[in-house]
Amino acid sequence: MALQITDLVKRYPTGTEALKGVSLNLQEGEFFGLLGPNGAGKSTLIHCTTGLAQPTSGTIRVFGHDAIEHYGEARRAVGLAPQDLNLDWFLTAEETLDYHGGYFGMPKKDRRERTKELLEAFSLTAKKDDRTRTLSGGMKRRLILARALMHRPKLLILDEPTAGVDVELRLELWHYVQRINAEGTTILLTTHYLEEAEQLCDRIAFINDGQIVATGSSDDLAEHYGVAGLEDAYLELVGRKELSRGAVREIAS
Ligand code: ADP
Repeated sequence: MALQITDLVKRYPTGTEALKGVSLNLQEGEFFGLLGPNGAGKSTLIHCTTGLAQPTSGTIRVFGHDAIEHYGEARRAVGLAPQDLNLDWFLTAEETLDYHGGYFGMPKKDRRERTKELLEAFSLTAKKDDRTRTLSGGMKRRLILARALMHRPKLLILDEPTAGVDVELRLELWHYVQRINAEGTTILLTTHYLEEAEQLCDRIAFINDGQIVATGSSDDLAEHYGVAGLEDAYLELVGRKELSRGAVREIAS
């Protein structure tokens, strides 16, 4: 099992219970989507999985390593591509990858080889000596993906990787992540783009108010709610079925 989350509860000091007993299993090699409205608990779940937040109770295992007891091994198994472009603007593209590898304890020779390989794979070789702040938006996104993969994680977490990017870049990023998945990396994706989840994910979980309310393929979820597709299933989840494009068309005609 790539990721095994059992009865995860997270209560913040403010009293907010962001996760109310979440259980989730990702098989090795799966492309898994986590969908839900703002405030549903997606970031909290990712933060608990990557050690940025401490669970109140429950367990998280990443490829068998307990995320708290064996934090080092669990953390090394995960690559995180965050939503925000959190690059160090004073480093070059090459240094960005090299420093990340150093943080994860990769020996120098390995870092050098891996950096070269990733710069090539993400079409960044010509820009390797450029400071990150001078890269285009698309290059920054690609560099963030490359950085997440630098230490060869077996689980890649993509937190809204295409938020606010144009159509061409979105499709380009899909192409990259599909390839990474085809090469064997398990992927956990959060996104607000239902089309993206439909296109990329083998399975999807709906999360709402700190609880997983349905899990399955896009078709399974549509069937679960008795509707035509993932978008309508999502609208049922958030209680806004009047927004269904089918219903809107009926009103218009
Ligand atoms: P999502 O990523 O799905 O938008 P979050 O995990 O960010 O959801 O938030 C889930 C709930 O937890 C929300 O009610 C949010 O306000 C609350 N929350 C998130 N982070 C914190 C924090 N550091 N302290 C207190 N409450 C938080």
